[in-house]
Amino acid sequence: MRRVLILGGTAEARALAAELVERGLQVVSSLAGRVTSPRLPVGEVREGGFGGPDGLAAWLEAERIDAVVDATHPFAARMTASAAEVARRTGVPLLILRRPGWSQAPDDVWDRVSSLEAAAGRLLPGDRVFLTTGRRSLPLFAVLESVWFLARSVDPPEPPVPAHVLVVLDRGPYTVEGELALIREHRLTVLVTKDSGGSMTTAKLAAARRAGLRVIMVDRPPLPSGLGLTQSVADAADWAQG
Ligand code: NAP
Repeated sequence: MRRVLILGGTAEARALAAELVERGLQVVSSLAGRVTSPRLPVGEVREGGFGGPDGLAAWLEAERIDAVVDATHPFAARMTASAAEVARRTGVPLLILRRPGWSQAPDDVWDRVSSLEAAAGRLLPGDRVFLTTGRRSLPLFAVLESVWFLARSVDPPEPPVPAHVLVVLDRGPYTVEGELALIREHRLTVLVTKDSGGSMTTAKLAAARRAGLRVIMVDRPPLPSGLGLTQSVADAADWAQG
């Protein structure tokens, strides 16, 4: 029976695991182990890093994996680079499953930047920022002493964090009304977000549009070249089935 590794941590990875289990394949979903209580996919789950490309290659061999689907978050660039290197080295087939990025509505004016550092560089004294780039990005914003942040994350951030920050622990999906309430309550003026794509966290963009917030959008890191890529869970399932 075909045995498939899904590099996970996303809604698409969970959907793919459910589909492959339904189709009778052996599936192992892998999570990084960073979130305290992750949403778990159906089927077998392992947690924690593999120990770089060498560790991943050894794990694939030991576990007799026939194919790998990298369904990690679009910003999980190290995991994707590691999977790509291992696929090249070992010949184990690899497919990337990536949800599409977000696109601007006609009246949106997004300031697109290539990194979190660049996003921090666009903020101005007095800005009141809705920061949704993840708890591990907070140190990059900690130098900005004249900016106020509402930072939303799944788990609490660790220091250093900005001097003026309110941390809100939550995880999607969110509603436009809920996001508008946060924006109004805290008089937010700027949204800083990664171009994660997907529907779970898209409400903040609609709310920012309605409330007239400036949007600073961090572009996705580039994918390694020469890899198979799909945006569709069904296509990934067909591919994994072989
Ligand atoms: P990353 O920077 O690309 O990964 C750093 C290291 O963590 C990797 O080299 C790997 O360690 C380990 N790792 C990452 N994903 C893994 C997985 N699915 N299974 C086993 N090990 C994994 O990744 P990240 O941005 O920290 O994201 C970590 C996880 O959170 C990913 O699974 C991703 O799908 C999920 N996630 C990330 C974001 C985000 O904004 N980055 C948002 C939502 C969910 P080794 O080198 O030791 O193998």
